[in-house]
Amino acid sequence: MANDEVYSCLQEMNFPMSIEGFIMANSLVDQSLNNLQKSGLRLTKQRKAMLEVLAKAENPLSAEETHSKLESATCDLVTVYRSLEQFERIGVVQLGVRENGTKVYCLSHGHGHHHHLTCRACGRTERVDLCIGEELEDVGRSYGFTDLSHVMEVFGTCPECQGGS
Ligand SMILES: [Zn+2]
Ligand SMILES: [Zn+2]
Ligand SMILES: [Zn+2]
Repeated sequence: MANDEVYSCLQEMNFPMSIEGFIMANSLVDQSLNNLQKSGLRLTKQRKAMLEVLAKAENPLSAEETHSKLESATCDLVTVYRSLEQFERIGVVQLGVRENGTKVYCLSHGHGHHHHLTCRACGRTERVDLCIGEELEDVGRSYGFTDLSHVMEVFGTCPECQGGS
């Protein structure tokens, strides 16, 4: 699709996103669908709809949040939970966790292993590519553990939320 075509299409849809954002979200969905098929997961309308929601989200979403952004009747919450876990297992989405322990999933920060820096006040989330998980998992291996994984997140107050307003 040519850029101006995309643009008029965006205007029609009243899409709250830049052209760059729109193209990025679409290519993330395309790549994810490719990865889905490579992993032998069927490409269903429901899965595609979930990936589209995650690609447009600025911050990682919980299963409930993903479900609430789907068009009603796309699928039930249990299906969303199950699909997100499958996506995570095959590396299509990255799992994160909030301070209260809620699992969240992200696609809009792109593919590949990463962690998150999250503002407690506004929920804004940045991608963090620093990872010391290998070292931690080595410790796990030294105890004879297998199937290791790790969850690591950083929380704080972002510059916009500082200053006591
Ligand atoms: Zn992320
Ligand atoms: Zn903030
Ligand atoms: Zn890591």
